[in-house]
Amino acid sequence: MLNIPDSKHERIVIIGAGFAGITLANKLRNQDYQVVLIDKNNHHQFQPLYYQVAMAGLEPSSISFPLRKAFQSCENVLIRMATLLSIKQAENRIVTNAGEIYYDHLVLAIGATTNYFGNNELAQKSFSLKSISEALYLRNQILDDFEKSVMEEDYNNRQELIDIVIVGGGPTGVELAGSIAEMKKFILPKDYKELDVNEVDIYLVQAGDRMLPSMSESASRAALKYLKQLGVKTLLNQRVVNFDGNKVTMDNGDEIATKKVIWAAGITCNKLSGILDNQYGRSNRLIVDDHLKLIDSNNIYVLGDQAIVRDENNERGHPQVAQVAIQQARHLARFFKKGIGKPFKYKDLGSMATIGRNKAVVDLPSFKLKGFTAWVLWLIVHIRSLIGVKNKLFVLINWMWNYLTYDQSLRIIIKPFKRSSTEQK
Ligand SMILES: Cc1cc2nc3c(=O)[nH]c(=O)nc-3n(C[C@H](O)[C@H](O)[C@H](O)COP(=O)(O)OP(=O)(O)OC[C@H]3O[C@@H](n4cnc5c(N)ncnc54)[C@H](O)[C@@H]3O)c2cc1C
Repeated sequence: MLNIPDSKHERIVIIGAGFAGITLANKLRNQDYQVVLIDKNNHHQFQPLYYQVAMAGLEPSSISFPLRKAFQSCENVLIRMATLLSIKQAENRIVTNAGEIYYDHLVLAIGATTNYFGNNELAQKSFSLKSISEALYLRNQILDDFEKSVMEEDYNNRQELIDIVIVGGGPTGVELAGSIAEMKKFILPKDYKELDVNEVDIYLVQAGDRMLPSMSESASRAALKYLKQLGVKTLLNQRVVNFDGNKVTMDNGDEIATKKVIWAAGITCNKLSGILDNQYGRSNRLIVDDHLKLIDSNNIYVLGDQAIVRDENNERGHPQVAQVAIQQARHLARFFKKGIGKPFKYKDLGSMATIGRNKAVVDLPSFKLKGFTAWVLWLIVHIRSLIGVKNKLFVLINWMWNYLTYDQSLRIIIKPFKRSSTEQK
């Protein structure tokens, strides 16, 4: 059913058009391979800016790019929108929801998913930010709850609607908290004049003793300071243990009344049918050798968040960030074009996080920045990394507009259409 034409060239099937998959397919343009790029969506998504979609700062289309458009002018790359279901390693075939396909080389790059550490209640009731759909869902819910809050006379009920708890003090949690705090400061007093914004509390809960644990101590200290300046209630060394849909319970027994918990506290990989037990490493990542080939396989490669390079000096694996995915994809492209070369070596280009306007922290290999300069660098890096000239331009214009007016203009609740709905359209 995937309807892939026969080719005189070897077939490389790439699953996942995230940072790794799309980079690899791009590098294999017009090479002597038939490349089949399969993704469950018809577009590439720029995950680092999901939180701005959730906070109504950017349109979803500004941070996504249609795959067919990306490869319009390219004969040897075929796009199929399908979901990988299983791998038949012995037969060199994969099974998708749209049928089976043979591969000469298979590249797995399906990224990671949210890790709730086995807590089903949290998984069902909290929000996560692993797709544009989830970002939009969160945007709708935040706006919807503010609408309800102005009609709610009871203080306690109102608290549940307007307070927000973010779990996880990594870059996603920190950036989201900063962004919501800015919304509280600049937007809510104008949009919801009837609401006492002092009643709105934003909590950021971090299990460890510092925010941004993957960055330097000075970046962590600065991030904490900026968050506090923005009025975020930062709870360090505390864990969320439960959420019943109306209140969060912490490990010390404290409770916070809220209907919105945003879970940014960890990721794991989905298990795949057909992968052998010994091919899985920590957090279900797939163990690859230093040429990114899946162990105990002949022709399967794994890239990005889903891969963990077997290396006794690096037991935790490379960080699950965009640069690792991109560098691994470039390495594998070189292998397909030129044959085996030097083993893969990750070059750490640094890390960064922004905490509201004019404030960011940047750790580069040779120096560190914070404050306004770091924030400008953050803007430049993110604009440059987006795919498509239109996206770069739209995001830049949006950011300039927001910066000058202190006012995003995308606060629209878009309700999904339900055919059986009796509600008025
Ligand atoms: C909210 C958020 C913020 C982040 N911020 C940063 C940041 O600031 N800087 C940074 O470097 N990194 C950041 N990251 C991490 C970064 O986005 C990932 O490390 C990177 O996307 C990994 O690339 P990948 O190609 O391995 O996977 P992904 O980019 O996740 O791509 C996986 C692709 O596989 C597809 N897919 C999944 N399952 C299937 C299936 N079964 N069948 C077919 N297709 C499938 C998905 O649709 C997706 O297109 C952030 C991540 C998130 C979620």
